[in-house]
This record gives sequence, structure tokens and C-alpha cells, in this order.
Amino acid sequence: MAKTIPAIRGMNDILPDQAACWRFVEDSARAVLTGYGYGEIRLPVVEKTELFARTLGEVTDIVEKEMYTFLDRNGDSLTLRPEGTASCARAAIESGLLHNQVQRLWYQGPMFRHERPQQGRYRQFHQIGAETFGMAGPDIDAELILVTARLWRILGLNDDVVLHLNSLGTADARSVYRTQLVEYFSAHVEQLDEDSQRRLHTNPLRILDSKNPSLQVLIEGAPRFLDRLDSESREHFEQLKTLLDVAGVRYVVNPRLVRGLDYYGKTVFEWVTDRLGAQGTVCAGGRYDVLVEELGGKPTPAAGFAMGVERLVALLMERGVTPPAALPHAYLVVSGDEAERQGILLAESLRDRMPAIRLQVNCGGGSFKSQIKRADKSGAAYALLLGEDEAARREVGIKSLREDRPQQNVSQVELADYLAKILQV
Ligand code: ATP
Ligand code: MG
Repeated sequence: MAKTIPAIRGMNDILPDQAACWRFVEDSARAVLTGYGYGEIRLPVVEKTELFARTLGEVTDIVEKEMYTFLDRNGDSLTLRPEGTASCARAAIESGLLHNQVQRLWYQGPMFRHERPQQGRYRQFHQIGAETFGMAGPDIDAELILVTARLWRILGLNDDVVLHLNSLGTADARSVYRTQLVEYFSAHVEQLDEDSQRRLHTNPLRILDSKNPSLQVLIEGAPRFLDRLDSESREHFEQLKTLLDVAGVRYVVNPRLVRGLDYYGKTVFEWVTDRLGAQGTVCAGGRYDVLVEELGGKPTPAAGFAMGVERLVALLMERGVTPPAALPHAYLVVSGDEAERQGILLAESLRDRMPAIRLQVNCGGGSFKSQIKRADKSGAAYALLLGEDEAARREVGIKSLREDRPQQNVSQVELADYLAKILQV
């Protein structure tokens, strides 16, 4: 036998039994986003490396060590997208979507990061994201949060997630704070781990985000940015909190919440669960008012979020939420040459008459008994039996697979009406 070829580590197949959960998340997100007036945008999976290198920040985890970058046959450096925001902004600029208009956009699809695979952390993972352009106020920040809060309610995850909120201020205020932070951590440099020492002069805010338990006391004692916020950002933050209070969205202000990417400023937020172990952030977002300009567009305020579909699906599974699986309504058992010919015609005419029917036809032969076993295994509610006798009489036997009821025989011409009644499709 030939050697099997396994999938790439950290890149998972999503099998049909999990796909129902995935669809539940995706369909619900699409419905909510559409309801709030967000238009779908579909973006390429590969972009020029420069797009991410310029926007995400040279010393972020993603750019430093996580990007799937390669030279294509023309010698151009390309990267599998690690996130969607930069691509979305690029596309909006390139297609003139930002000229004198506001935009509410959403996307979904795979993202790629070369991380150490573990529960909740994969190398190909999937995000559903929303990005808004042209709106500077806290009202759109609140709307983005309301979109996600509504989605959690629909998914039944409302009680499992907590909203963490922070402000990263303006770039000027951040750079003053940065100096204070470097001073503070430099005084305790011997306590910092290797990662944090490296970040001390490149990206000191990220130290606040460290998950290393032995750093927590030191981080707890660090100067807090929220106490040093510029007045513009402070007002923005206060207004956002008021809007969330009015809308009845609960949150915790988390002064240590920083986002991993350089383009964020002012509002940042994360939805966090304690039910998934270390990888507890299911959705993250915030404002990125500088990004469009950095990409060569006119200065345009912007805000958005991205949620991790794998983590949401894991949460649904952990919760035991089972969305209705698309089991077959009926399984057609066919035995004998004439029955097989009648069967294919009958199945096609049922599909014509009842477009919503989920009907599986037995293929590959087998005895009546083994076909009924397959019918049962398919999860179908009914087996439709078409053997030589039924074929001769132009009938079909209808056997309930889930309830103890006597078999019914129905003529083939009346079958569609009969099924429509019992299946209500
Ligand atoms: P983390 O702190 O968990 O590394 P991040 O800050 O790198 O997250 P973002 O870039 O903000 O994550 O992505 C938004 C969301 O996408 C995350 O909150 C998470 O749900 C999901 N996500 C990010 N990276 C991965 C991954 N490697 N595998 C699965 N989901 C991921
Ligand atoms: Mg990360």
C-alpha cells in the first residue's frame, strides 16, 4: 500500500459532523451583519508581503515570526494573509470605496499564521470580520460591539463571554506613555522573561499583554495608560461607555488590554471566555484611524473586529449546543434492475416537485437488509422501499426508521403529495 499523506500540522479538515456548527456560526453572523447594513467583501488569500509588513508593525508577533511568506515565480514576495483588516483597507482604497462615503463591510475566510499549534491556536484558522470606514465617533464603536453581542445571544453564548474594554489613546499620548513604561520595566529588567526583554525597546506595550504568570505582579504595578489618557481619547471612551450602558451591554474596563497590532488606537475590545483554557479570546477589535493613510489613502477613521470561528465552534461544542443537522428526510432503497430504473426516475421527479427534500438514493447495490441498515445509519427519517414487487405494482413502501409504525404502501404517482404531507417540505 502507498504511504498516506497527512495534512499540514495546524491545518485542519472540518468534517461534516462539525460543519453544522460552523454553518450555524457563519449563517448567524451573516444574518446579523446584513441586518446592520454591512456589505460582504471577498478578498484574496494572498497579498504582497509589504501590505502586512507596513501596517501590522515590524515588531509584532505576526510580522516577526508568524507569516507564511514566499517568493512566487516572478520573484515577488507574497504572504498568505494573517488577518483581514489590512486587505480590506487596501481593497477599499483601491476600489474607491472611501470617496466621500462611509462603509460598513464584512468578510470571512481562512487566515494563516505560523504559530505553535495547540488547542484554539492553528496555522490555518478562520475569521469573520467587520470593518467600518469614515466614522470617527464612539457610536460606530458601540455598534460594532452591539453586532457581536447580538450574535452571542443568537448562538446562545451570551453567558459565556465577557467584554473587555480599553483605550489606547492617540499616537502622541501613546508615545509619552511608552517612555514611562520603558522606564518602569527597565528598572526591573532582571525580572522580565526573554520575550519581554526583547519587547522592552521595540514594543513595550506588548509586555502588558504577557501571559507569563511570573510577570503578573510586575505588570500589575506598571503605570496605567488609562490614568494618562489624552482628553480627546478620554472623552471618546466615556461616550462609548455611556452608549453601552444605555444599550445594556455589560463590560469590564481592562487597562492592560493591548492589541497585538500597531495600527490600533483609542478604543480596543475583546470578548473573552473562561471555558476554553488559555485561548480564551473569541473576538477582538478596535479603532485603527491611521491605517488607511498608512496605506496611501486619504486620512479615514476606521474601526472593526474579527472573531475566531474555531474558538466559537469549540465554545458551542463545549456548551453542547447542537444546531439542527441536515439529516436526510428519506433514503431510497432499490433492489432489482427494474426497481433501479424506476428509482432513479422517481428520485429525480421527487426533487423536481419538492426542491427542499433531502433524499439519499442507495448506490452500489446491496441486499435489501444491508440497504435498510445504511438507511438507518444515514439518519433519515424514512426509508422508501422499491423492490421487485413494488416496481411491478408501481408502488413504494414507506417505512418509518424512527418510530414504530406499520409500513405504508403508496403509488409512485402519489408519492410526492404523500411525502409533502408527512415531511412538511
Ligand atoms: P491571540 O492573543 O489569541 O494570539 P491575536 O491578538 O493574535 O490573538 P487577532 O489577530 O486579534 O488575534 O485575531 C482575532 C481573533 O482571531 C482572535 O481573538 C482569535 O479568536 C482568532 N485567532 C487569532 N489567531 C488564531 C489562531 N492561530 N488560531 C485560531 N484562532 C485564532
Ligand atoms: Mg496571536
